[in-house]
Amino acid sequence: MNYPLTALISDLHANLPALETALADARVRGAERFVCLGDVIGYGARPRECLEWVMRLCVEDPVDPGAAQARTLYPGLCLMGNHEAALLGSGVDFNDKARAAIDWTREELNRSDAREQNAAFWDYLGALVPAMCDGVAMFAHGSPRDPVREYMLPRDSRNPEKLKACFAAMERRVCFVGHSHVPAVYLESGELFRPKGPDTEFDLGDEDAPRAIVNVGSVGQPRDGDPRLSYGLFDGRRIRFVRLEYDHAAAAAAIRAVPALPEFLAERLAVGR
Ligand code: ZN
Repeated sequence: MNYPLTALISDLHANLPALETALADARVRGAERFVCLGDVIGYGARPRECLEWVMRLCVEDPVDPGAAQARTLYPGLCLMGNHEAALLGSGVDFNDKARAAIDWTREELNRSDAREQNAAFWDYLGALVPAMCDGVAMFAHGSPRDPVREYMLPRDSRNPEKLKACFAAMERRVCFVGHSHVPAVYLESGELFRPKGPDTEFDLGDEDAPRAIVNVGSVGQPRDGDPRLSYGLFDGRRIRFVRLEYDHAAAAAAIRAVPALPEFLAERLAVGR
């Protein structure tokens, strides 16, 4: 099968040090395509820079200025997360801290010194869709059933009704998601695989293998008690879960430098909660 080695990044949450660390690692490992599962912005202090990266890599016609030598990248894609949906006007279900961050992000993306770039950001955000498929996999921010808002969490492996409904909505035999910030593989049988260690591979098998929902975790705000960033590499059959140290102190300092962003959003990066 000819499937480009695909870096799956999700929930960047405006954390630039984490994103740049993940991208550099994916380049070294030979990633040929970049797919973002949503929540580029929200919580963190660098929404503009993170959007710029996604608009270079996760588009029809990608160009990677960070690559040491020019190489062909396959068309990427980016999905709408719940934070993008909130930014575009429907953040009704947000808690105070998330809402404070979205309100500040909206101001930041409307900065009066960069109107032309602002327009490009808003055009890009406005064109995002909640779910997409390629020949092998479906991609959604949250779950196949409710792509923007539903969380897939480890306890769901013991909820046959939820699993049944989520698998019923799958348009491919594998669906990649983010949103809960907890990396895991959910099989239709209720089996759960949770990656341990910095570099864990899971073989999703061929067309006849059991169907799976794969959460790649979060680049910008891990929540499984491990502060290292999380992203995935998919070769059309195997998913590799990568965990990497990054400069979370720098990301926290950038948040603390913005008075409108709650202190808690800085603190949690050091503990992965
Ligand atoms: Zn998120």
